[in-house]
Amino acid sequence: TGKKYLMMVRGRIPGGVMTPAQWIAFDDLATRHGNNTLRITTRQSIQFHGVLKSGLGALIKGINASLLSTLAACGDVSRNVTASPTPATSKVREQAYADAVRVALALAPKTKAYHSIWIDHVQLNLDEPANKDFVDPLYGPTYLPRKFKVSFVVPPVNDMDIYTNDLGFIAIIENDRLLGYNVAVGGGMGRSHGNEQTFPRLADVIGFVQPEHVIDVAKAVLTIHRDFGDRVNRKHARLKYVIEERGTAWTFAEVNRRAGGVLSAVRRYEFTTTGDVYGWNRAVDGSWFLTLFVETGRVKDADGRRQKTALREIAQKLPHIEFRLSANQNIILANIPDADRATIDAILAAHGVKTTDQASPLHAVAMACPALPTCGLALAESERMLPGLIDRIEKLGAEIGIAGEEIIIRSTGCPNGCARPYMAEIAFVGKAPGRYQLWLGGDAAGTRLNRLYRDTVKDPEIETELRPLLTRWKNERVAGERFGDFAARVLWPEIAAAKAALASA
Ligand code: SF4
Repeated sequence: TGKKYLMMVRGRIPGGVMTPAQWIAFDDLATRHGNNTLRITTRQSIQFHGVLKSGLGALIKGINASLLSTLAACGDVSRNVTASPTPATSKVREQAYADAVRVALALAPKTKAYHSIWIDHVQLNLDEPANKDFVDPLYGPTYLPRKFKVSFVVPPVNDMDIYTNDLGFIAIIENDRLLGYNVAVGGGMGRSHGNEQTFPRLADVIGFVQPEHVIDVAKAVLTIHRDFGDRVNRKHARLKYVIEERGTAWTFAEVNRRAGGVLSAVRRYEFTTTGDVYGWNRAVDGSWFLTLFVETGRVKDADGRRQKTALREIAQKLPHIEFRLSANQNIILANIPDADRATIDAILAAHGVKTTDQASPLHAVAMACPALPTCGLALAESERMLPGLIDRIEKLGAEIGIAGEEIIIRSTGCPNGCARPYMAEIAFVGKAPGRYQLWLGGDAAGTRLNRLYRDTVKDPEIETELRPLLTRWKNERVAGERFGDFAARVLWPEIAAAKAALASA
């Protein structure tokens, strides 16, 4: 018997916005060709897992028939462009989303091969000059050295973890009017175990651009990556290494040279949180929105909670609302008139899905990457492990006397960092089956990288490792201090001192 291959297919969904009809299409495709679940990603997309080769063509064709795509959802190109999904704080969100869609279109590869292979099933005639001599006008003949991530965020909510992107646009708002965007360049999470040359990096905020020039800036930053990125060592190929090595002054000048001098000095802004606003809330335009917690981003029917079925029914009954995927792996139902609230509540209740008290404080802000069994790079469990581990940490917290406190905990199955672990207050990064690195000290607003605390912790010993740290936090914290801030203030200097002592011994 031959080997059987399972594949993952990822949609490209700019800003994570879907119509109910598109949601239904994705739900159908997951049932028919995937493993009957929809996996919301940390970049506002949906992944289908467990796809067999025999279903691959039909699945990709089905996504395109829904007027979404998989083109450039993966590969060394501009990936899914993300944008703040919450309608809670400012009407500027709609403009930021529109700009994100414009940038997504401008940075999409122009190849005809995708449609030829997946949609039309007609082989391109490579003897035609238009095909034979085709070179992508933006990417050139060899595309980028590595992936390129773009995001738009609307402060004060940093729900995009904006500094983890190659290119971030931070909306600058005055009197609820969009003035433009601060431009953040050179972020990225990925690193490799045992390779000090690789590291997570926060993007540098280099300048300000008016909305009419976002595409100029996006193309300038992307082509800087194209032209200066390392094409020899793939582990050193992300834009962040170019920016780290050449510096922000060079980057500012080079972007301005390529974009026609559109960057000016950075404007003031502030982030306060990275979290989603759960439950029912009023949007700024007076409509309602409902944020539903999705455990580790996996929409499924299980354990008496039929979230997949409920969302499908909502999409069927209310074709005029909007489905939005959050970069925290949750779902926001938006643009809901007063009259539809009761319908949505009834459908969710009938399928055992809560709209209040949806998750405990630790579960509500946790994130995990898929890892085993669907990711080929995984060294350890993540999605299947994290909910149980959070339960264990909650039990520990109750024993210590810190029950109900929010701590941002994230896990990944490898150092690639898909769930942005290096921004978490506590992160578990897989090293080997049942073994994790422990990282401590990110902050609530997503503005600080955490630091490695232990290089290997065995799963059963996690409580033993965390107990003294959480106990010290309880006893030594200043008023209202979060665990991540305590770790950065108190534990980091201790780690540094211990390292220095070791080095001089
Ligand atoms: Fe796979 Fe690693 Fe990404 Fe997790 S972090 S999904 S294990 S590549």
